[in-house]
Amino acid sequence: MGLSYICPTEHADFDPQDNGYGHLNVEAYSRELAVCRGQSNGQITVLQGIEVDYQPRFGAEIKDFLAQHTFDFVIGSTHYVEGLFVANALLDAYDPETVCHRYFEAVRQTAASGLFDVVGHLDLIKRHAIRRWGRFDRHRYADEIETVLQAALETGTGLEINTSGLRGGAAETFPGLETLCRYRKLGARYSPWAPTPTAWQTWEKTSTTGCRWRKQRGSRTLSFL
Ligand SMILES: [Zn+2]
Repeated sequence: MGLSYICPTEHADFDPQDNGYGHLNVEAYSRELAVCRGQSNGQITVLQGIEVDYQPRFGAEIKDFLAQHTFDFVIGSTHYVEGLFVANALLDAYDPETVCHRYFEAVRQTAASGLFDVVGHLDLIKRHAIRRWGRFDRHRYADEIETVLQAALETGTGLEINTSGLRGGAAETFPGLETLCRYRKLGARYSPWAPTPTAWQTWEKTSTTGCRWRKQRGSRTLSFL
């Protein structure tokens, strides 16, 4: 695939209601990656990343966790809003607009925490909104998304480009191209990352503005023109 680096991002969950709570064993995770490094014979650099579920009420615990361990790459993700899981309980609790408003406010808090290298799947809620209600109009939430981007810029946090969205109803990455372009226009100095090993995207900075998708040798490339 031509990859020089790979960085798995195991989940770290701090909410006892989450299925993954108590699952993470950092020492065992490090040992497994050391085995992978041995097997790669130096052909690929194997880094150690983590995806942290961020909720403000666990902020101190998360801070301690990150201080106690060394990771090459830390994603901060919003999987719960006010203790409600974004894939179901949150959708059951509110109307579509309120769900999205509250979701983006929670993502803003994740970005504003300054604890992470990148914000994970910034607009993941569109996957669940489309599945539940058949639609998601990002323009209705442009102001909220803007505040997330501003918080990310202020804290020096990048954006993950999560490619899992390409496989579902959203048919685009999390976040989508418009949001990525907006982030750059606001003055982003931080390269988004696509941690999933599909080797399809590059982040190219140029002096002009605009974005487009481009197909190259059968793989998708994100370009800024
Ligand atoms: Zn996630």
